[in-house]
Amino acid sequence: MSTEAPIDPTVPPSGTGCVECTESGGWWLHLRRCARCGHVGCCDSSPSQHASKHATATGHAFVRSFEPGEDWFWSYEAEQFYDGPELAPPEHHPLDQPVPGPSGRVPADWQRQLH
Ligand SMILES: [Zn+2]
Ligand SMILES: [Zn+2]
Repeated sequence: MSTEAPIDPTVPPSGTGCVECTESGGWWLHLRRCARCGHVGCCDSSPSQHASKHATATGHAFVRSFEPGEDWFWSYEAEQFYDGPELAPPEHHPLDQPVPGPSGRVPADWQRQLH
């Protein structure tokens, strides 16, 4: 594995939810998976935007959608969609995990808190 490679298809996702939101008790709309290190973060519409913050902090530019049925990659650097390789499973969050999620932490007025 090269440390220069922007995408490492062998790394599994960090978990089923946003790493930082899980620690802080936050919630998210959609999830994005870092294609380099597997970090799962929340999307730019979510209140905390942890996926793009992770990209900025680490230089890991590519994420892949972690939503069921979506296989696109996005580069925060180029601000562009890409096709990419299959990544280590699981390829999306559990099907019984609600959107927005996670269960029990989404406020009633969540739509007004989106970016
Ligand atoms: Zn988050
Ligand atoms: Zn990363």
